[in-house]
This record gives sequence, structure tokens and C-alpha cells, in this order.
Amino acid sequence: MPVLLLFLFTLNAKAQTYLNIGVDTTSADVQKALVFYNSYIAAFKHKKTPEMSAYWPAAELEQRKVPDQLLYGINMYPLYDQNYRATILYIKPTSKYIQIKTQFGYTDSLKNIITFCITNHYVAFDQAKKPYFINPLTLNAVGWHTKKVRNITFYYPSYHQFNQVRADSLCNRLAKLEKDWSLTPIQVRYYLADTYDELIKLKGFDLSILMGNLDRPSGMSDDQDNQVFCGGLGENYFHEVAHLYLNHLYPNSPLQEGLVVSMAGSMGHQVNWHLKRVNVYLQQHPKADLNQLEDFWYTDPYTNPGSAIDGMICNMVYKKDGITGLKRVMTYTSYQDIFEKEFHVAKGQWNTYLRKTIREQSEMAK
Ligand SMILES: [Zn+2]
Repeated sequence: MPVLLLFLFTLNAKAQTYLNIGVDTTSADVQKALVFYNSYIAAFKHKKTPEMSAYWPAAELEQRKVPDQLLYGINMYPLYDQNYRATILYIKPTSKYIQIKTQFGYTDSLKNIITFCITNHYVAFDQAKKPYFINPLTLNAVGWHTKKVRNITFYYPSYHQFNQVRADSLCNRLAKLEKDWSLTPIQVRYYLADTYDELIKLKGFDLSILMGNLDRPSGMSDDQDNQVFCGGLGENYFHEVAHLYLNHLYPNSPLQEGLVVSMAGSMGHQVNWHLKRVNVYLQQHPKADLNQLEDFWYTDPYTNPGSAIDGMICNMVYKKDGITGLKRVMTYTSYQDIFEKEFHVAKGQWNTYLRKTIREQSEMAK
């Protein structure tokens, strides 16, 4: 046993990962897979992106610029470069691949283990015994159904009955969006399920911090590869698809999310519904300071207060000047410009102005 332990230490001496107790690395294939996996994880350190073709087969790279659906599966930062401790919990060799299950987390000051996510990677070998990754999404989507409507290819689990009315409704809204913003249709992959948790699992997570709690409509858009993952609203999750069309038009606007929220709502509700919740919070917290709008945040599982306010700003501009107004407000790159130029409100006055406006708008929702 001591010999084995020494060997494991040597194998992992330069690795970015750690082995849980009980993980057997005695087989040559497992060792090879582990070296390959460790070199992939290490290659992301210090904001670098490795040459994906060294790790992913050509068929995957033809489909997506970023084949790894775990990499940005939780937030906009590469998972492997967020300073989490990566502990390999489990390695399972099968006849087709070697499955590596990893926990990304850290210990807090009291040494409690905090888990950010648990992932699955699948390493296979080609005929020359060169290792490559199999995409967990490819494995997990076996048995899913596909249907194309206009420019949207829907992928959905076998229990789901495809709803053409909802798909047509999405496409009609997209046709209007394209007309209003002078855009051409883009080809979109649209993954849907009853719950967002299922879509997180589809990507290869056993667990992520986005999972759990009460189910509500949730989604994620990936504008690098024009795909969306939509839970809870079936075929008509307009919000996430709208991001694919609009994000790249105004990359420097602080209102990217607000624009989409104003048009499509958020988490299944329109802006004024969210503003009512924000208003209640503001009444109860008279010291919350909206002059520091970028820092205004509180935890509410049903509302993102910042994007509700951004959505309100877009709604007000739309009421004033329609799409022309929205196109104008999206060109500003700071809140200061937005408030001064659109509402003639100077910095330092935002708190008074926004509290009054949020109260008025939320009362209109009643
Ligand atoms: Zn959004």
C-alpha cells in the first residue's frame, strides 16, 4: 500500500486534481486517461484556452466552438480556472470509455466542504490509443427527440409531447424581433425539459449550485454556439433566444439583460411583476441606496432586482420612443449617460428618482 500511495503522489505531483480515497488508478488505461484529463484541466489555468482539437474529436468541433458544456455551464468564467479544488471522486472504466467524476469546491474557514459542482468527463481512446473526450451531452441526449421549426431545432426528452402551438408562437415573436431590429434568422439549438435541473444534468453535471430549490422557469443562452437551455416554459422561452439575437449588437451596454427582460420577461413573469417585489423590498429597506445601482443586490429566488430595474428603464424608453428609443438607449455604455440623456437625472439623484418610479410602475401592475 505505501508503494501505491507513493506512486499516486508521483502521478499527481503536477496535476491540478486530487484523488478521493478508494479511487483505483492501477490500470494503465486509467492512468493514461488521468494524465490526459489533468493536462486538459491544467491547460485552462491563468485565463488560457487550450487547443481544443488536442482533446476533442473533429465531429464535436464541427458542431460547436466550445464542445465542453461544463466549461461555462454555471457562469461566464471557465470552470477549471476559478480556483476550486478539483477532487476526483470516482473513476469507472467501461468497455467504451473511462468515466471521471470530479468535485469542484473548497473548504471554508471552519473546514466545512463547500461544493460548487460535481462533473462527469468521459475519456475514450482512438485506434492509435490516443485519448479523446466524449461529450457528456452526446451521451446523455441519446433517446431525446428532435424537431425543427423555422430556424429553431428543438431537442426534448422522450416524456415530452411536442407543442407546435408554443413553437409557432416563439417563431412568430422571433420574426417580429428580426423585423424590428433588421436582423436575419440565426440557426438555434433549443434544448428543453420540464425542469432546468434536467438540462444541467444533460450537460454532464451530477450537481451544480444552480440546481435544487423550488423549480421555476430558468434558462441559459450560449451566444458563442447559438444554443439555449430552457426549463419550465416548453417551446416558448423567448427570453433566452432573444439573447442570441441581441447580445452581440450592444456588447458594451449595461442594459443587455434589461432589454431582453423588457421584451420577454424573466423567470416566467413580466417586468412589473418583478418591480412589485423590488418595491416591497425598497419600502422595507429605506437605507438601500440606488445611487450605487451597480452594487444594488439582494437575494430573492424569484427576482433579479438589477435586471428588473434595467427592464423598467427599457420599458420607459420604449413607451417614449418605441424601437428607435431602445436602439438609442442601448448605445450608451454607462448608467450615468442613460440617466442623464434619457431622463435628465443627474448622478446622486438616482435613488430618489428610481424609488419613485419603481413605486409608480409597480402600482400600475395591480
Ligand atoms: Zn437573460
